[in-house]
Amino acid sequence: RIPAAAVELKGIHVNYIMEQELGKGSFATVVKALHRASGQYFAVKVIPRPKSLLQPNTVKMLEREMAILRQLDHPNIVKLVDVVPSDVELCLVMELVTGGDLFDYILSAGYLPEDRAGPLTAELCDAMAYIHFKGITHRDLKPENILLTSTNPPVLKVADFGLAKCVDSQTMLRTMCGTPSYLAPEVVLQDSRHSGYDQKVDSWSVGAIVFAMLTGHSAFKDEEDQPLPKRMKERTVAWEHMTDYECSQEACDFVNHLLQFEPTSRMSQADALRHPWLYPTYCQTGVPS
Ligand code: ADP
Ligand code: MG
Repeated sequence: RIPAAAVELKGIHVNYIMEQELGKGSFATVVKALHRASGQYFAVKVIPRPKSLLQPNTVKMLEREMAILRQLDHPNIVKLVDVVPSDVELCLVMELVTGGDLFDYILSAGYLPEDRAGPLTAELCDAMAYIHFKGITHRDLKPENILLTSTNPPVLKVADFGLAKCVDSQTMLRTMCGTPSYLAPEVVLQDSRHSGYDQKVDSWSVGAIVFAMLTGHSAFKDEEDQPLPKRMKERTVAWEHMTDYECSQEACDFVNHLLQFEPTSRMSQADALRHPWLYPTYCQTGVPS
């Protein structure tokens, strides 16, 4: 018999007690964990390391990416606290956010009127303007990757950072069904012409997310029977939903400036904060500089 004290704890278990599963993403499991030394709870994202998923190069890239992400410090970004690598997995220790994700939040509300969607949008755009200023792009912004605190009103926290870069775009496209609403057309079409406008992919996602908040619907009508490139180029925004929910002219204009096919015509996140729809709300919630 081995006495308990002699059992050597390895990897994440040295410092954390792993408790229940919080959620599953496309390639990782997120577990609630108790930090032994402080008694504080965290969310640990466990990324398995079979060679098919994470090549040594990818792991290097992931670790480099994590070093950058650990420097991010913003009230609307899920804080990355620690990175614990081992032979079998990579564990990302994050701030625990307990109010569920934006997808479920919209679903249970049906849709969000402008006075509820506005403050959340201001927080989202402020977080995005911050990372863009730091030279980082999220790339996989969607309601499932946006978490909310369990306070009233909820505080928005963007999660799932930087990982999109490490999963190749083919894998990402394979895991999607239908025409992707939240991914910018130049990402889906793998159009490299716009490589200098990288951050504009997040602006597209924000546009699609705000549309979903204000209407509870996807922003696009989809012609399922057409090939994907044609569908991406020819699809139109379902403005009638915004009309049905009596969205203001400013709100429609805001979304329209974000859902521009050409990244060069698409509004940046810094400009989004100064758009007439958002600016008054932003002045109340954030501290514009
Ligand atoms: P993936 O990159 O595999 O999509 P995510 O980071 O989106 O993984 O996490 C998957 C799920 O785990 C989320 O939808 C959410 O329910 C839960 N989750 C992720 N991060 C946290 C967190 N910091 N606090 C609480 N729950 C989280
Ligand atoms: Mg996710």
